[in-house]
Amino acid sequence: MINLIKENVQYVKGIGPKRAAKLNRLGIYTVKDLLYYFPRQFEDRSTIKKIIQLEDEEKATIKAVITNIESYSPKKGMVLTRVDVKDDTGFAKLVFFNREYIKNTFRAGDGILVFGKVKRSGNFVELTSCEIEYRSKDPKTTGKVMPVYPLSYGITNRDISGMIRNVFDSREIAIPEYMPKHLIEKYRLCSIDYAIKNIHFPKDKAALKVALYRLIFEELLILQLGLFMFKGGKGDEKGIVFENSEKVEEVLKRLPFKLTAAQTRALNEINADMCSDIVMSRLVQGDVGSGKTVVAMIALANCVFNGYQGAMMAPTEILAQQHFESFSEILEPMGIKIALLTGSVSKKNKEKMLYEIASGETDIVIGTHALIEDNVEFSNIGLVITDEQHRFGVRQRGRLSSKGKNPDMMVMTATPIPRTLALILYGDLDISVIDELPPGRQKIETMAVEKKKRDKVYSTLVRKEVDKGRQVYIVCPLVEESETLDLKSATETVEELKHEYFPDLRLGLLHGKMRPSEKDEIMNAFKNKEIDILVSTTVIEVGVNVPNATLMIIENAERFGLAQLHQLRGRVGRGKHKSYCVLIYGSKSDVCAKRMEIMEDTNDGFKISEKDLEIRGPGEFFGTMQHGVPQLKVANLFKHMKILKTVQHEARIMISEDPKLEKAENRMIKNEIMEKFSNINEDIYLN
Ligand code: ADP
Ligand code: MG
Repeated sequence: MINLIKENVQYVKGIGPKRAAKLNRLGIYTVKDLLYYFPRQFEDRSTIKKIIQLEDEEKATIKAVITNIESYSPKKGMVLTRVDVKDDTGFAKLVFFNREYIKNTFRAGDGILVFGKVKRSGNFVELTSCEIEYRSKDPKTTGKVMPVYPLSYGITNRDISGMIRNVFDSREIAIPEYMPKHLIEKYRLCSIDYAIKNIHFPKDKAALKVALYRLIFEELLILQLGLFMFKGGKGDEKGIVFENSEKVEEVLKRLPFKLTAAQTRALNEINADMCSDIVMSRLVQGDVGSGKTVVAMIALANCVFNGYQGAMMAPTEILAQQHFESFSEILEPMGIKIALLTGSVSKKNKEKMLYEIASGETDIVIGTHALIEDNVEFSNIGLVITDEQHRFGVRQRGRLSSKGKNPDMMVMTATPIPRTLALILYGDLDISVIDELPPGRQKIETMAVEKKKRDKVYSTLVRKEVDKGRQVYIVCPLVEESETLDLKSATETVEELKHEYFPDLRLGLLHGKMRPSEKDEIMNAFKNKEIDILVSTTVIEVGVNVPNATLMIIENAERFGLAQLHQLRGRVGRGKHKSYCVLIYGSKSDVCAKRMEIMEDTNDGFKISEKDLEIRGPGEFFGTMQHGVPQLKVANLFKHMKILKTVQHEARIMISEDPKLEKAENRMIKNEIMEKFSNINEDIYLN
């Protein structure tokens, strides 16, 4: 049976290679994919109305008797069929274009069901775009709840329905049940077989509800179990018990500033975890510029003072380099040895570095994903930190932890997510929030301007800032996600600026295709004020710190998510000077206007992500928020919060009893999890 399901979809009756190719473009390759291609919504054609109740413009089903049928041809190549019907409340006219068979199939006196779009003026009622069927035969397109599929590539709703029907009609399909029995019983879930049949061909509304409940439950369970499994849940294992070292005071004294109350609170929460025997799994959430780095540094320093090594992973080389520099400045004079491990370390240096890490000579390692390669071994790692965690896949984070024996683990993110979502993403993490910016930060003045005013932005605003001795970022978006195009857009912008606006200024270009050493060179030149205007792709999205930069211009701002715009904007406003952000947009859509308005109105990352969620819907939002997580098809993290909580509770129990889901009753669902999570590209978006 399992093999039947995995069969290539092209061998289903009525599909064949041509249609299969179209289905492939919808992500449908196997019979199973087809059966799991769920409707986006449902059209209720099951409520039967009386003619007298029909409202203008609505779509509705009526039960009626035919009184007359006529066909005529108003012009060449067109046939109009007019069917007059009545019920016990009134009369209606059905109109069909080019459907001659109607006249041959039905006749006066027939009892029918009709679904169509209503046009009403007074007592005159007409239905167009009709589906008509005999009342006595088992109706297929009227009188039912009809699925509406997400479609494209020349495949219609009717096509999909027909193909799925063929699957069920042409063979004995029994989908093996993979949901653990105890859950089926406890929550009275229907079988997968019933669920799949009824989501495509709902027997009635009640059956659809039962089917949907099961599928939503299943989807959330698979997601949550997968996340727990790959993250390596908390388990019973004991962690290292650290002590709060006196030397931390000295680190604090060496800082050029006082910690904010929110930073101190987060540190206390981290300390409490580290000084207990539980293995810390903590998420530190804080808006751009809230000062997460120094919190990480202090935790790592304390770890070293206790005689253990620490590691911190960042998503880009520029960021790793920056952390390395700021850590070194404070900690090296105190005798702490720090290494920077990235993909661009030369082979010879790397060997030495790896040796020093393995021998325990190095205290803190900062790096990119080079840190999680197999050849990196630690002598005794006590704390691992992932910066900008949303840039990493779930499994990559897990891999860093596995470099030691139950090290404490902390992840940091500047992408704030509402509590409700944190529940699923970080169901097993404790959360610290840094909800306060260091003193003296000014609001970044944000303006959204239409593309046609771009010229003015460059000739006046940019010029003014540079004249004041400030520096400017210009960010160009990824075009069509193509690296070459992306590159072109930034390159072209530099050329344009050089020739048309600023022949006298120093321009720099930064993009993902550059070698890391080139990127560093440019970034350092910008830091050292040798470049006035830095044009870049989103390479600078995370964490880069240049306090003298006060103007951020974002081209084609409509192409970015709000959270990303907020991150980008956070590159300015890092010093004592008033800072600005200009969003240049080229879309006239309402959604765009609304998004731009939100960016102008608020600087609060939490509010922005909530709005983002509202506008984009949780599915898309969720996808960009967390790499390495399967897309949801039927579940909605907001609408189904209650089911989600139930599922989380059950998933936690299952994982604590069987961490790798190897017991007989869990093996089947594990297969589903592995399948869902394996379709995902876990590459870090190093750009
Ligand atoms: P993020 O949370 O976005 O990673 P960073 O850790 O990069 O923010 O901090 C942003 C800037 O704020 C850095 O220049 C850092 O030195 C500075 N900073 C951090 N904490 C404080 C503080 N308590 N007072 C003043 N400046 C601070
Ligand atoms: Mg940061």
